[in-house]
Amino acid sequence: AEWTPETGWQDARVVPYGPLLLDPATAVLHYAQEIFEGLKAYTHADGSVWGFRPEANADRLQRSAHRLALPELPTDWFLGSIASLVAADRAWVPTGEERSLYLRPFMFASEVFLGVRPSQHVTYSVIASPAGAYFKAGLKPVDIWLSETFTRAGAGGTGAAKCGGNYAASLLPQQEAFQHGCEQVAFLDSVENRWVEELGGMNLYFVQSDGSIVTPELSGSILEGITRDSILTLARDLGHEVVERKVSIDEWRDGVASGQITEVFACGTAAVVTPVGRLAWNGGEVDCAKGEIGKVTADLRAALVDIQYGRAEDRHGWLTRLA
Ligand code: PMP
Repeated sequence: AEWTPETGWQDARVVPYGPLLLDPATAVLHYAQEIFEGLKAYTHADGSVWGFRPEANADRLQRSAHRLALPELPTDWFLGSIASLVAADRAWVPTGEERSLYLRPFMFASEVFLGVRPSQHVTYSVIASPAGAYFKAGLKPVDIWLSETFTRAGAGGTGAAKCGGNYAASLLPQQEAFQHGCEQVAFLDSVENRWVEELGGMNLYFVQSDGSIVTPELSGSILEGITRDSILTLARDLGHEVVERKVSIDEWRDGVASGQITEVFACGTAAVVTPVGRLAWNGGEVDCAKGEIGKVTADLRAALVDIQYGRAEDRHGWLTRLA
């Protein structure tokens, strides 16, 4: 669909997948005025297809749009864009264990000009891709590299928005993580370089020895993960006390070393709930998983996945039928 101030949103259509032809002066290519979402559709045993909390993605897209000076996309347009894509060929939605259809809505500045100002022509599109397990090697703890040099988002910046620019900032530290044999990078806050924010594409949780669970509070530069929010609810359902507060990097390191922290896990749409193993930095490391998935992590993962695949009652009204 296309937007201009005069017409509003118009021209919604489903077209065969193919390249976009862009003028070299298209605004997004220069100033990264772009936002996106990521969500999944799941086939249930009876063949019906369901989206997991798409309204929450629609809300987050609105917040991202506001921060990036992009127009609001009405929630019914967002939901309609996903449903019509799935309805166009529901055989796209894979069936079977851990299989789903990953949906990637995105909006970008498509006006052709070179000045720095919000674009007066905006394009919204959705692509879909079948997804299997995120970590090919199966569900084993992921190793994390602590980025002490780079942050992904600064105070007052775009960290809470799901915009391409945040990921541009995270690519070099992510590459460093790979070079150190880790799959993911952990980011600290940009002001004190001390408070744990999140991973490159996932939010973090810490299970304490008393059974309570802690997650970094939303700081304005952390992405408000929809999985993070779902886990807050599911953990309380399972009887855990859950606290959102600041977590320092020393609390992570010392807590694992002393046994105060018994499990660390990460969560996001792509990786669902994934145990965290080693935390490595320049000069040291701690390992809280020893190659195993912890019980609290496994139970929360099962609780979430069972709802997504329709095997457990959808007690919180998180599923929206798409086809
Ligand atoms: N943090 C970042 C930086 C991410 O890219 C993602 C993935 N969208 C998340 C957290 C998790 O968010 P969600 O649970 O909505 O996928």
